[in-house]
Amino acid sequence: MNVMKKMSETAFALIVVLIVIGAVATYFTISNTERKMEEQLLQDARIVANSINLMRLSQLTGTTNDIGDKDYERIKKQLRAIRISHDQCKFLYLLGKKPDGTVFFFLDSQAPDADDYAPPGLIYEEVSEEYLEVFQTQEQKTVGPIHDRWGKLYTSLVPVEHPETGKLLAVLGMDMTAENWNQLILYDVVKVLGIIILAIVLVYYIQQVRFFKSQREAEKKIKESEEKFRSIYNGANDAIFIHEFESGKIIDVNDTMLKMYGYSKKEEVTGKFVDTFSSDNKKFTINQARKWRDKSVETAEAQIFEWQAKRKDGSLFWVEVSLDLVKILGKTRVIIIARDITYRKKAEHDLKAIAQRYQSLFEQAADGILTGDNNGVITEANHSICEMTGYKRAELVGSNISILFCKETLEKSPLRYDLVKAGETVLSEREMIRKDGSSLTIEMNTKKVGEGILQSYIRDVSERKKSQELLKNKNKELFYAQRKLQETNTKLRNTNEQLIFQKKELEQSKAKAETSDRLKTAFLANMSHEIRTPMNGIIGFTQILLEQEYTRKELNDYLKTIYSQSNHLMKIIDDVIDIAKIEANELAVNKGYFYLNEFFEELYKNAQMGTTSKNSKIQLVLNEAFDKKDSRIYSDPIRLKQVFDNLLDNAFKFTNEGQIEFGYDYQKEGKLLFYVKDSGIGIPPEKSKEIFQRFRQVDESLTSKYEGTGLGLSISKGIVELMGGEIWAKPLDEGGSIFYFTLPYDESWIKQKPGDVKKKNMKPAWQQKTILLVEDDYASILFMDKLLNPTKVNLITLEKGQEAIDFLKQENNIDLILMDIRLPDINGLEVTKKIREMNKEIPIIAQTAHAMGNDRKRCLEAGASEYISKPIDVDHLLYLINKYF
Ligand code: ADP
Repeated sequence: MNVMKKMSETAFALIVVLIVIGAVATYFTISNTERKMEEQLLQDARIVANSINLMRLSQLTGTTNDIGDKDYERIKKQLRAIRISHDQCKFLYLLGKKPDGTVFFFLDSQAPDADDYAPPGLIYEEVSEEYLEVFQTQEQKTVGPIHDRWGKLYTSLVPVEHPETGKLLAVLGMDMTAENWNQLILYDVVKVLGIIILAIVLVYYIQQVRFFKSQREAEKKIKESEEKFRSIYNGANDAIFIHEFESGKIIDVNDTMLKMYGYSKKEEVTGKFVDTFSSDNKKFTINQARKWRDKSVETAEAQIFEWQAKRKDGSLFWVEVSLDLVKILGKTRVIIIARDITYRKKAEHDLKAIAQRYQSLFEQAADGILTGDNNGVITEANHSICEMTGYKRAELVGSNISILFCKETLEKSPLRYDLVKAGETVLSEREMIRKDGSSLTIEMNTKKVGEGILQSYIRDVSERKKSQELLKNKNKELFYAQRKLQETNTKLRNTNEQLIFQKKELEQSKAKAETSDRLKTAFLANMSHEIRTPMNGIIGFTQILLEQEYTRKELNDYLKTIYSQSNHLMKIIDDVIDIAKIEANELAVNKGYFYLNEFFEELYKNAQMGTTSKNSKIQLVLNEAFDKKDSRIYSDPIRLKQVFDNLLDNAFKFTNEGQIEFGYDYQKEGKLLFYVKDSGIGIPPEKSKEIFQRFRQVDESLTSKYEGTGLGLSISKGIVELMGGEIWAKPLDEGGSIFYFTLPYDESWIKQKPGDVKKKNMKPAWQQKTILLVEDDYASILFMDKLLNPTKVNLITLEKGQEAIDFLKQENNIDLILMDIRLPDINGLEVTKKIREMNKEIPIIAQTAHAMGNDRKRCLEAGASEYISKPIDVDHLLYLINKYF
């Protein structure tokens, strides 16, 4: 409102200023316009005066005689024309002055018939002083307003002088009506006033606009502050009541009051008195409340007190009331702000209870308790400490705690007030002196319990000390006893562990024995079956052959069967021998250079040739990693073939249809990876390691569907490991299995010269050569004879070793000796040695059926040039003999 006032005052002042400016401007405008008009009229009159032909004028008399005079008429006409053409000019005339001083009309511009015509010589009776002044001074000027019979006029008077004599001829008067004059002034004034009025209107308008704007803003602010007040009023945490001052009737309450007192509508509360919301106790009546109100009036201050309030449901609770007086819309009201202090009351109550409990604990505690200040001055002491020390409470309170200790001990171990003050709990054991001078050992626990308040808990530990000492000794004894017990325990534990270990070993051995027993039984059953099957074939067909004569074809068929069954049998025997050699670590490996690709191609050919009708559903695939010329390796091709034969045999055995893939690949770290993959029955993953153990088969039942001795894989494993590799098997997700094995590989082998290659199907012609065969077995002699017969070699056979030695002593035409190792008299190795003593050159090829032991090595050591085992591989033998021919 103030702002509003200020603003209108400013506007008002501005308007007053504008009015003053208007008045001044009007004044100046009037005087200025008047001056200008005077000048203008005077100037016009001057121009007219200057335009009059003075010579002609000087000819005139200024009497009626002039009427009709040419000069008179001319000047009159001229003046008339000027008057008519001049907007403002009412009259234009010339005045003259007679010697007697009367002023008369010399000449005027009116028509002679006009009402206001003044004939020449007409006395101007109403002549004013200003006119006469002009005649006298001969100075031109504008005068007026002048009232005469022609009306109210303003006149410019210009003296007209004789051009030569300078004598005043007449005075030219040019009149303008006062009405015209005033109109022109008014016109200018109106312009000025118009601007001023416009300015005033503008100021007024701006002021009004601002007034309305500020009024709107003020209203908005009032509304906002009202809303703010409402939200504070209703949102306050405290209940607010507004009462009538006199009656105490409630006029209004806030929302919190309704909530706090359990009401839902204001109408339930307004119009009621404080009793309705107070406990029925007479301490909380309306009269009591009025007393507080009066006190507030007296002191002119808010009264704060506690009041027991009552909810709608009758339940009571405590509030803290702030009672004050306020003026609302000019009326005094009592405002009560009530704060729910139920929790505070409860906390106070609890605190009181705690304090009481603390006090009783303090008093009844078995430990002595002292409370003191930062300097050790005792402020409280409990019953126990009095008993402990023999001092009365009054003696202790106010004294320093140091009276309870002897000076020396305090110096040696001072009471650490510094640590306690810093918040630490200080525990110390020290001697305390009683009032009677006796001492006791105490344990003192001191800590800070408040600002400048320290508390010490003091316990008499004299008895405990003694018991501790006793306990210590007992503990020591116990410790030794325990140590002994521990030692005995350790011994027992070790023995136990040993026993457990032995038991485990025994169990393992038992399990092993059981397994090997089971395996052996299975193996023997299997073996018997495996051996009997080919034997049946051999014996059966041999008997058939002996019974009668057969055709060549029949003979051929039967012999082929016998041959194949014999080979099968031989394979079994070879396997058994090989496994025995592996066990005895006597399996020999003879390495040489050969082309791996050649090896594989032969293997592939053999495998395909051996394919039975069942196997014809199987596609055989060979993969070689190197080109032939790069496939040279240094290894034992016979052992390698043995491994592959085993793996391929199994692959064919356990695959009915699909594909068998085999070959090799180069692996980093100087290794070659060989594999045989089939699409057969596969291996259960848990058996993939077991099958490499001897006699182990996936199906170990005696009724196994597949034939086999369970030796092939363990032999293969033995061979591969002997050659520095590893072998393993993996079942394939798509069915079937894959067997891998690795062998060491060196790239430099590629450049090495390959060893001699056995040539198959040789057809040698050795008619010039003589071979000595030392052999006692008739079948073997026959076989050798049949074998060498096509070569046309000269074959000499001796059955005993000594015979051979003796023979060679005389005969030196022998080109080669074939030496059997097992001879009836001297061992073939001995014979070889003796022959070597006599003849270093002669090639000796040792042959033996003695498969156990490292025959080859022993033969070569004895001096043999080559070694061949029985049954003899024909091609190999021919190849060996050929090497020396
Ligand atoms: P054998 O084949 O004479 O029983 P092996 O030592 O060669 O003996 O094989 C042991 C066992 O391993 C076989 O009896 C067979 O259960 C399992 N086995 C070997 N090769 C394969 C294969 N390619 N597929 C499935 N099982 C195989």
